[in-house]
Amino acid sequence: MDIVIIGGGPAGRTAAIEASNIGENVILIEENKIGGTCLNEGCMVVCGLNEVSKFLVDSKNFKNLGIIDNIHKISFDKVISGVKNTIDKINHVLDFETRDAGAEIIMGQAELQNEKVIVEGKEFDYDKLIIATGARPLIPKIEGAEKAITYKDILNLTELPEELNIMGSGVISAEFANIFSTMGAKVNILCRNQFLKMLDEDIKKYLLKNLLTDVNIYENVRAEAINEDHISTDKGKMKGKTLFAVGMVPNSEIAVDIVNTDERGHIIVDNRMQTSHKSIYAAGDVAGRIGNTPISRAEGITAARNACGIYTKMDYSLIPYSINLYYDVAFIDFQKNDQSIEGHIPGSAGPGSFWRVLEGMTGITKIGVNEDRGLNKLFSVSPSSRTSMAYMSKLLREGQKIDDFDDFMEVHPSTDAIYKLMRFFARFG
Ligand SMILES: Cc1cc2nc3c(=O)[nH]c(=O)nc-3n(C[C@H](O)[C@H](O)[C@H](O)COP(=O)(O)OP(=O)(O)OC[C@H]3O[C@@H](n4cnc5c(N)ncnc54)[C@H](O)[C@@H]3O)c2cc1C
Repeated sequence: MDIVIIGGGPAGRTAAIEASNIGENVILIEENKIGGTCLNEGCMVVCGLNEVSKFLVDSKNFKNLGIIDNIHKISFDKVISGVKNTIDKINHVLDFETRDAGAEIIMGQAELQNEKVIVEGKEFDYDKLIIATGARPLIPKIEGAEKAITYKDILNLTELPEELNIMGSGVISAEFANIFSTMGAKVNILCRNQFLKMLDEDIKKYLLKNLLTDVNIYENVRAEAINEDHISTDKGKMKGKTLFAVGMVPNSEIAVDIVNTDERGHIIVDNRMQTSHKSIYAAGDVAGRIGNTPISRAEGITAARNACGIYTKMDYSLIPYSINLYYDVAFIDFQKNDQSIEGHIPGSAGPGSFWRVLEGMTGITKIGVNEDRGLNKLFSVSPSSRTSMAYMSKLLREGQKIDDFDDFMEVHPSTDAIYKLMRFFARFG
């Protein structure tokens, strides 16, 4: 069977590897760079820059504690070139891995015409097509919007902006605010409504008090016009460059005449990632279900298996999330809110150390336990919260309840806290 996949990001690339491993003829078409948003403009960029931010926070804290006598200054251009070099290396690895699995990679922009894929004039027939074209930043309709930047421009910055106004109330807004403020920029976050509204109130308070300490956050603000060096809002003018982090638009234009899309342009799929056209599947950000890399990969695998005739369904329950700050702010989306006993204690420790021990910055873990001795709330802010959360999600998806963790063997210091708090609450059961 001939399977054509458009888009070489986490969804498309994983689909290509899966379908190749199953034994089908696979062509993967990518117009820019293998690895998609995640590697080239998103996750890797945030992680690379945050590595330096964390070092700067440590350096400032040790200076305040009298442990070192200098706060380090950074060469922003070296930070950017370091991130770019690593991206280039990983590009090669991903390209090799995908071809090694058996997929052919064609570089160019794909279009769809008469049940064929066209790339720069060349036609490709398919038995099954997987659309994994991702999404791009939403540019709001505001006067002067073209003067703002988005995450796509970060690696082209030649110097650290002195003042930055970040429009947006979600994860990307928080992550860039953390990075640029710790590097020395004066940062404002402007939210149309509430900042990080998915967070529990105690966790949000902790984050504001301990993690985004040098950022001014304005909620319920309307931007009116953008200039090179300031933004006008209904609460007054704010100096600085503007960065949009107000959402994403799916890259679904090539398929809108062939498959059904929703009012925001996402390709509508069922839980097998099949579209309204029997031979066409869609996966990742273009389908707009969750918008992160692990889900995009899982959807890519699901689309590939179904395209190859192997019945597979996506499961969107108990998804773990994380916001990449000094400590990761990680949580699980339980999608329900039944009665619970709730409480919080310091965050889980390590790895490497307990927390920022010398300063006593312990993080926070908050848990909710329901009458059925199951968890129904889990947030953690700590050095190991991101890892713990992924494993907790797996265990909870397997149906484990508090008592099933009795024999949990910890590595200390690293994972303690979530389990301790669960055991403590179990006494009330
Ligand atoms: C700043 C930022 C930080 C992020 N951080 C994280 C994180 O820490 N963790 C996490 O899980 N997620 C993170 N994400 C989200 C993650 O990057 C995306 O969810 C993921 O990349 C989506 O994968 P995808 O394959 O659906 O789309 P993409 O990665 O966008 O890939 C789509 C690919 O399709 C190609 N394409 C589009 N149209 C065509 C065409 N017509 N022809 C050929 N090729 C085409 C594009 O060039 C692109 O390479 C972040 C996103 C951003 C913006």
